Amino acid sequence: TSVINKIAAGEVIERPASVVKELLENSVDALSTRIEVDIEQGGAELIRIVDDGEGIHPDDVPLAIASHATSKITGADDLFHVQTMGFRGEALASISEVSRFRLRTRQADQLAGVEMQVDGGNVSPLQPCGCPPGTQIEIRELFFNTPVRRKFLKTPATEFAHISEQFTRVALANPRLHMVLRHNNKSVYELPATDRLIDRLELFFGSQLAESLIPIERSSGELRVWGYVAQPRQSKATRKGQYLFLNGRWIQDRSLQHALTEAYRGLLMVGRQPIAYLFFEVPASQVDVNVHPTKSEVRFRDSQQMYRLLLSTLRNTFLGMDL
Ligand code: ADP
Ligand code: MG
Repeated sequence: TSVINKIAAGEVIERPASVVKELLENSVDALSTRIEVDIEQGGAELIRIVDDGEGIHPDDVPLAIASHATSKITGADDLFHVQTMGFRGEALASISEVSRFRLRTRQADQLAGVEMQVDGGNVSPLQPCGCPPGTQIEIRELFFNTPVRRKFLKTPATEFAHISEQFTRVALANPRLHMVLRHNNKSVYELPATDRLIDRLELFFGSQLAESLIPIERSSGELRVWGYVAQPRQSKATRKGQYLFLNGRWIQDRSLQHALTEAYRGLLMVGRQPIAYLFFEVPASQVDVNVHPTKSEVRFRDSQQMYRLLLSTLRNTFLGMDL
């Protein structure tokens, strides 16, 4: 199933930034307090992520990189199923299929760490290693064994820009995490832990924007929205200044974007888009995240309810303001 594994891997791993996204999410899930990311050549040569999270038990390391869906694929019908239904628990399996992969991990109560290497899907035996508690993952030569995909990587600067965007989304969603990003050994972001989202917004987007942001906060039943929106005079030609998060993860959502546009109707020049950093909290039972393997598209059970909450909150906020 080697070819099928590589096709399947390509469904999840499109470019270096997709790797960084998956690894960052894993480090966050492992309750890390500190995450360092090192990138070389836009991620084509090296992606390294070091966290101080709970680590993986030695017995579980082989499972962590084992493919669950692809190992069961026997024909085209199954492959179709994987492509349409998406992957769960497939990120490390997919990444290690198309790179030179090394994982080192240690749980705090273990005397030593373990190391696992996978070369284009070929797994080497587990080795003991010395390492601090947490997990370190190194990915070299991404797509070395899928030459077409490697050839279609953009310039290091462009690939790094995509990585930086993924890093930014996780950093905004988790201000309490100390996070570091380096490219070609140069520091790009060094973000100390903070309790205040606004501190992080200031570091990413400058104090001028941060000082003029309007805080919002409202709950309705089990739904909650909070965050900041910018003054109408602070707007952009695209939606790139809009960051939406659902239950702590960045999401893309047309309906909520539309609610934002509606709220600013008449306040912005034609073609301009408002800047917003908004956090939505919803009981997990109200959300289906299994729409796409990369999990950034979600479906709300009741998207109208969230739409109305956001729109009315913003309208009420703007009502008493001199904008
Ligand atoms: P998923 O996150 O969907 O379970 P992944 O392939 O991303 O699938 O990761 C597989 C498993 O490896 C995770 O479920 C987790 O148990 C373990 N794992 C991966 N990265 C880390 C990490 N940084 N710290 C601790 N455990 C990790
Ligand atoms: Mg994962």
